[in-house]
Amino acid sequence: MVRFTVLASGSKGNCTVVTGGNTRILVDAGLSCRELFRRMRLADEDPATLDAIIITHEHSDHVAGLAVTARKLGIPVYFTEDTHRAWVRWLSPRRQMTYSQWLEQCRSQAVALMAETDAPTIEDCDPEEAEAACEESDLEAGRDNSEQPEQAHSKKTKKKEQKDPTWLPKVEYFQAGESLQIGDISISPFTIPHDAADPVGFVFQAEGVRMAVATDLGYMPTNVKAQLKRVDLMLLESNHDLEMLRDGPYPWSVKQRVLSRVGHLSNEATATYLESEYDGQATYVILGHLSESNNLPELARISAERALSGRASLLANRLLLAGQHQPLEPILF
Ligand SMILES: [Zn+2]
Ligand SMILES: [Zn+2]
Repeated sequence: MVRFTVLASGSKGNCTVVTGGNTRILVDAGLSCRELFRRMRLADEDPATLDAIIITHEHSDHVAGLAVTARKLGIPVYFTEDTHRAWVRWLSPRRQMTYSQWLEQCRSQAVALMAETDAPTIEDCDPEEAEAACEESDLEAGRDNSEQPEQAHSKKTKKKEQKDPTWLPKVEYFQAGESLQIGDISISPFTIPHDAADPVGFVFQAEGVRMAVATDLGYMPTNVKAQLKRVDLMLLESNHDLEMLRDGPYPWSVKQRVLSRVGHLSNEATATYLESEYDGQATYVILGHLSESNNLPELARISAERALSGRASLLANRLLLAGQHQPLEPILF
């Protein structure tokens, strides 16, 4: 089975579930763990069956729920090394520790944790309770309690995790331009132009179906256009309407950042790509990362529809819009 479920898309959180064969990957974790699990259940996806999380870049709308989700599920997180470093810096701005010291600390913590057989398990993670439990144990960390030695021991380990907000069950590195395999899904990460440490998009392939994720990019460079060829599905950014952005509420510095070569794709830029360079092969074109302040779903849709309808051969492309507040109907191949 191949399935693509956008749980959320936009500046308040990004999350997609890609399923291929027996493997399920969460692409970005930009919602709280609780909200992420809620949306997965709404979309008929079981959080307990996720095998891994893969991250595009370290902006908070892509990683806000990462640590809690990975810990609760006990699954590995795939980053580029630079994105991982940036995420660590983001979570520990005052930490006086070199990266190699930090890495060593993570390794020894992971070993210690495994030795104590107290790794977080899926059974520990009732999705309903996940975040409540986390908040609860956060509270407990500050309490002086007199429990049984066994409980005390287990809590000690949990406290260790809580002391380091960057602790993850397992970290795996990948590089843009080098394919990797997670279970039944092969993944081609590619560099995108965006103001993050080492941002990437992905092409996921399973059972002969190719699905691309390309959001958060300031323009459409040649390498991205090449990656988007021969895909069956693409989640493509259509962030803002140029006029709405120019006349909108953002301060000029933010407007400049959005408009820059490392900002976000406008409806107009996306339309230009769809009209002139897109190969027309995708069964589904999903517009995503729409700004709530500087765009309207109808403007993005009309702009892309116009671009696609200008090319008679492309009439079969199904155009969908991914939203911020509810999951998109899962797409099955
Ligand atoms: Zn984003
Ligand atoms: Zn971003």
